[in-house]
Amino acid sequence: MASSVTFVMAQRGADKLDILIKNAWIFDGTGKDSVQQDVGIKKDRILFVGKADKNVKAKKVIDATGLYLSPGFIDPHTHHTRRLSSEKAEERAVLRCLLQGVTTIFMGSDGAGPLPIGETLDEWQKEGIGLNAALFVPHGSVRAKVIGYRNIGVSDEQIEEMKKLTEQGMKEGAFGLSTGLFYTPGFFSSTDEVIELSKIVASYGGIYDTHQRDEGSQSIGVVNSVKEVLEIGEKAHIPVHISHIKVSGMPSWGKSVEIVRLFEEAQRKGIKASANQYPYLASRTSLSAALVPTWVRDGGAKAMRQRFADPSLRDSILHGIGEMIRVRTGTADKLVLSIKSDRYLDNQSLEEIAKRWNLTPEQAVIEILEKKNPSVHSFSMTEDDAMRFMKQPWVMTGSDGGGGHPRAFGTFARVLRHYALDKKYISMAEAIHKSSGLTAETFHIKDRGFIKEGYYADIFIFNPKTIKDNGTFEDAEQLASGAEYLFVNGKLTIDKGEYTKALAGRALRLNEESK
Ligand SMILES: [Zn+2]
Repeated sequence: MASSVTFVMAQRGADKLDILIKNAWIFDGTGKDSVQQDVGIKKDRILFVGKADKNVKAKKVIDATGLYLSPGFIDPHTHHTRRLSSEKAEERAVLRCLLQGVTTIFMGSDGAGPLPIGETLDEWQKEGIGLNAALFVPHGSVRAKVIGYRNIGVSDEQIEEMKKLTEQGMKEGAFGLSTGLFYTPGFFSSTDEVIELSKIVASYGGIYDTHQRDEGSQSIGVVNSVKEVLEIGEKAHIPVHISHIKVSGMPSWGKSVEIVRLFEEAQRKGIKASANQYPYLASRTSLSAALVPTWVRDGGAKAMRQRFADPSLRDSILHGIGEMIRVRTGTADKLVLSIKSDRYLDNQSLEEIAKRWNLTPEQAVIEILEKKNPSVHSFSMTEDDAMRFMKQPWVMTGSDGGGGHPRAFGTFARVLRHYALDKKYISMAEAIHKSSGLTAETFHIKDRGFIKEGYYADIFIFNPKTIKDNGTFEDAEQLASGAEYLFVNGKLTIDKGEYTKALAGRALRLNEESK
């Protein structure tokens, strides 16, 4: 081994390493079990992986005996655009991600995000960000720009205009198209509209990523919704990816069996179909999106409140909200509000609030939405469905993180701690593969996701004894523990558990030439 190290180093003209990490248990991101080896870093790349010769010189040596080393994690679904554009450097570091080992995040998710893509990427690169950032073309933003938020027919010219904006986004470096067909205005889009846009994205080698139309039984049902995703993959010849895959709400529990079957059938037909998942049994979304029927929300918040005020609509709105509660969680005690700015609502279940106000839960929803639109945690999933998804080889880890929900702070640490180390639902090697290599391959991220010579030095070193998520639904915003060292593009960003103030992340572009 020593001679090959010397050879590699001589070949690349490197007399001295920047960093030498010794004796770590290396999980290389492929899903293979760990081996105890050394890793050498020069500038932003991994120069070698193996047993370092005694004579190898490095500016800094890290003894990682007893620690695990993995590729920096890749989070395919987040909501951190505003954080990355913040004036505060500390916000742009996104410490909540770094301390989970995350070195690359995707945004523009759920069909919502900045346009134009290129400008945002340039700004991030210029101002400095803590981790690598990638964007999708956000279908909802494209649609809003061309058509607005109304449920109206779409002309051929408007489709052409949407195609143009989508193509521009792909040219500027987006990794694919993301839709939020559950949300306004995505919900108003036909499958054909999405197929048309996806064909453009496919021609640039991009992926179709979606918050699908229905994750439970609120409109077409989760099984039909998955069929729609797979149909888009088949007709647009594009790899498809379902974000935060789940079956939500009592009427849908157990349907993971049927969904897995549909995925496998599609994969046999040659459709590239995958998904990401966060390791929590409650989802978080806005109260209106969770519990108000789409027809009431048509036209946005103002139109919704006008309908609330219309006595002739009152009964059907209340009935609709009641139906939404029933199919989402069954009962109102499993819906817990999350709004830091209002301590009378924060951490209270819809049931408790309604009782306090002497209202029905349906009436309480309208009462709250008259003034604000807080987030709500819906305890609407079962462990059985979640584990069936987690065990699939095409399911990877994704946080859906922004703020508020513990997933933003703990997703990756929780998969390692709770599901790999403690419950042993999946192995450590698999958990790491699902957080790095698998994601890099699925989203076509060049030279990242594996511990491999020549790859970017995005490297996470953690202590298997202390790695842990700390956020709970009552107190979500707690940083994860157990991170010892984190390298982003070769720069030491977490050193002995402390943030170094480095902003070494890069704006990533699909198909960019590596330097
Ligand atoms: Zn989503």
